Amino acid sequence: MKLLVIGLGQCGGRIADRFARLNKRGHALRGMDTLAGVFAVNTDVTDLSGLRTIKPDYKHRILIGAQRTNGHGVGKISELGAEIANEDVDKVIDAIRTAEGFYETDAFLLAAGAAGGTGSGSIGVLTSPFSAVNCASAVTRTQRGRETLRRVGSLSGGVLDCLFPRVCVGCGKIGDYICARCAAHLPVLDGPLCPRCGQPQVSGMLCPSCAAKLSPVSSIRSVFRFEGAVRNAVHELKYHNLRAIAPTLAAYLTEYARQREVVADVIVPVPLHPQRLRRRGYNQSGLLARALAESLATPVFMNSLKRSGVQASQARTSTMTERLRNVAGAFTCADASFSDKRILLIDDVCTTGATLEACAVALRAAGASDVFGLTVAREV
Ligand SMILES: [Zn+2]
Ligand SMILES: [Zn+2]
Repeated sequence: MKLLVIGLGQCGGRIADRFARLNKRGHALRGMDTLAGVFAVNTDVTDLSGLRTIKPDYKHRILIGAQRTNGHGVGKISELGAEIANEDVDKVIDAIRTAEGFYETDAFLLAAGAAGGTGSGSIGVLTSPFSAVNCASAVTRTQRGRETLRRVGSLSGGVLDCLFPRVCVGCGKIGDYICARCAAHLPVLDGPLCPRCGQPQVSGMLCPSCAAKLSPVSSIRSVFRFEGAVRNAVHELKYHNLRAIAPTLAAYLTEYARQREVVADVIVPVPLHPQRLRRRGYNQSGLLARALAESLATPVFMNSLKRSGVQASQARTSTMTERLRNVAGAFTCADASFSDKRILLIDDVCTTGATLEACAVALRAAGASDVFGLTVAREV
């Protein structure tokens, strides 16, 4: 197996340089080459020049954001690192693709420090092109100096249809994102639920909170409880750039919608705040909505519902009233084509339903005749 190593930022560059040195020794002592190429990407030209073993040409030591930072780095600002990586992603990919060993590559290893700056900001952005060629992210981060290898394995086939081994989010078994055994024990949310908000409700009648108010959402349903393997799966999708798991989760949404005969004219994902979208590079609910729309052969509107306003942390605002206040008015929709349409609103996790309700207010204001919320998981 041959690894192609890309070090991002000062810390990532040094790790990559260490890989290059080990490979050099392996070549000299045993005639072995375990690497297809080693690259360092940085916004600080001085950090690039400090590397010892990575080849000194511009194809192997790649300077990004030169116009923005004058080659002096991003000063620990991860957001700036992400922005620059977004602007210069083609430069990085072009350099790597034209490297000698590229077509011998079995796996990509991206390394970055997590302390904030070029590495932390750019790693999410730069793993995206590799995910786009249908491989899950192979991200190595150094956390407080500890180098942790994650998900590096062998690939089969050519590099463009490369596929990192799928690792079960429940038990770690290699083969699928959710292995058959874990799939049989997923925490399905069943039993009597409040017909409106979907919270477990022994009576099966409206819960006290729903009985006390009118809701813009006809009903909210979730396939699973937000726990165990499902929680891990959502975390991988959201925070570890494992976009490749989206179709697996969307398949559960599809199955649910088919079994319950959910009827919708249009599918809409809950949007991310633009700032967060820029940082993450993708909207996880958008990925789910797109895959679901494809299986149900229903149109999906990815950008009609917009999120604006100040993004306050949901974790710090725990009560339903606070959450409602927090998200009320945060969404707008100006799409005239929603008039008289039944909308299926998709999100990854439902906590209190406040976000879905706020979205529904905007969709109703745009003329939607009905809004039904469906999420992968629900906190109960
Ligand atoms: Zn498993
Ligand atoms: Zn309820």
